[in-house]
Amino acid sequence: MTFEGKTAVVTGAARGIGLEVARQLAEGGATVVLVDVLEDQLKEAAVNLPGARDVLTYTVDVTDEAAVERLFDGVIEKTGRIDILVNNAGITRDDLLLRMDADEWDLVMAVNLKGTFLMTKHASRYMVRQKSGRIVNMASVSGLVGNPGQANYSASKAGVVGFTRTVARELARKNVCCNAVAPGFIDTQMTRVLPEKAKENALAAIPLKRMGTVEEVARAVCFLAGDDAAYITGHVLPVDGGMAP
Ligand code: NAD
Repeated sequence: MTFEGKTAVVTGAARGIGLEVARQLAEGGATVVLVDVLEDQLKEAAVNLPGARDVLTYTVDVTDEAAVERLFDGVIEKTGRIDILVNNAGITRDDLLLRMDADEWDLVMAVNLKGTFLMTKHASRYMVRQKSGRIVNMASVSGLVGNPGQANYSASKAGVVGFTRTVARELARKNVCCNAVAPGFIDTQMTRVLPEKAKENALAAIPLKRMGTVEEVARAVCFLAGDDAAYITGHVLPVDGGMAP
């Protein structure tokens, strides 16, 4: 897949799925903009990417609107365009409903949903002017079917799905496509910290009987960000070993 001449902004790119998405986009020739709150890991990630000369890093919290605006101003100043936005930054604060406090709810909503909104709003300003753009949001199978202990997370990811469908309809006439990928149970830091019992239960629920890899999720993101998906918008692509109905 070729992304020559394109500028791609990826949030949550210091590690995990976001880092692999950035790696595959860079391999395809894109100028990649890595965004994360983890400053040191971000810098380290950038030097190890293919074509590291064309990699920019920004330590930005996606919930901070002023910082998000500065980020896009900076990217436009350096590259002159924004072709691809991958809203991948996300967090979990798992707890059963009766034990979940409002702070755990608010934090997850802020990063997963408000962050996706802010990044999309400020990127699409430039995409609309260019009359082209691709937005790929990171949903989750948890947002499609629910998952005990994740009321906040699944609500935020279901929100991402509704947001994706609306943005797709609003921006279609400007040739900007917006889709989401809904990963299942993927081997990253997010799932490595889960208790053994939770991992066993998750594995038992996967028809393909194994966790997914970051490479498998990133390939789906790159497909939706690439030329082969030019006529696809407003969709959610599960990458989950068969978990979603
Ligand atoms: P991860 O924790 O390894 O990576 C998430 C990245 O987001 C981290 O680098 C983190 O620093 C960054 N981040 C967190 N808050 C941020 C903020 N406010 N601003 C900027 N960056 C921030 O997790 P991952 O598994 O790679 O998850 C990536 C995405 O995939 C998330 O949206 C997650 O919800 C989604 N997802 C993951 C799985 C899975 O099984 N791992 C399943 C479904 C969906």
